[in-house]
Amino acid sequence: MKKTLRALSLIVAAAIILCCFAGCGEKKESEKIVFGTNAEFPPFEFISSVNNGTIGEFDGIDINIAKIIGEKIGKTAEISNIEFDSLLIALNNGQIDAAIAGMTITEERKQSVDFSIPYYTATQVMIVKEGSDIQTAADMQGKKIAVVQGYTGETCVQNLGFEYEAFKKGTECILELVNGKCDVVVIDSATAEKFIGDNPGLVIIEDNTQFEKEEYGIAVAKGNTELLDSINTVLQQIIDDGTLADLAVKYIDEM
Ligand code: GLN
Repeated sequence: MKKTLRALSLIVAAAIILCCFAGCGEKKESEKIVFGTNAEFPPFEFISSVNNGTIGEFDGIDINIAKIIGEKIGKTAEISNIEFDSLLIALNNGQIDAAIAGMTITEERKQSVDFSIPYYTATQVMIVKEGSDIQTAADMQGKKIAVVQGYTGETCVQNLGFEYEAFKKGTECILELVNGKCDVVVIDSATAEKFIGDNPGLVIIEDNTQFEKEEYGIAVAKGNTELLDSINTVLQQIIDDGTLADLAVKYIDEM
């Protein structure tokens, strides 16, 4: 009898220890939330450069939003910097929990991921050199057009039926334009503002008849409603209390 009792208490003790370990493991798991981004899209995400030229930290409107979401849901927001094209794949293979990257909510993307409520409205614009004869989207016909691969700017130019060259980064497109290797860059409005601010001699041309409004959303893996609900709650809060508007003013007006 005594032996049985001792064996039983040993089993109970082992079970308690195991539960503790399992518990600790779970807690650690739940402590971080990984946001995938592509830090090539100022003012939404970029890597700040420090005066002496050393690499700084992830910064921008989206990075701030990610941190606020982390704080409000009690997890540490970790930023994973990956190619824009790979963000949706990374979501679906579990490499990241959410993608926050100035990402336009599109029907095509909605086939593979779920989007939060919209948090920013943008449009595509054209960047040209001052004095360019491109004044409307139709004027791009026959011109050398540069876009970023996988961005909605690429889709817009495809829909217009024009030839174009696609680059990996917005900064590469701008370099082509500055060096006279292309005539026009099609990219999102707020990022375009940032690029023309950094490059005197470049101007923005809008064409609201061809480029429709786009809304940015945070993407999660299809069916991850628990995370999506939490993200939506926080987004609604920061929309209602003005935090998001303040962030936009801080990062967009500062440019
Ligand atoms: N809004 C554009 C898109 O969704 C560009 C986003 C980005 O470059 N980060 O394609």
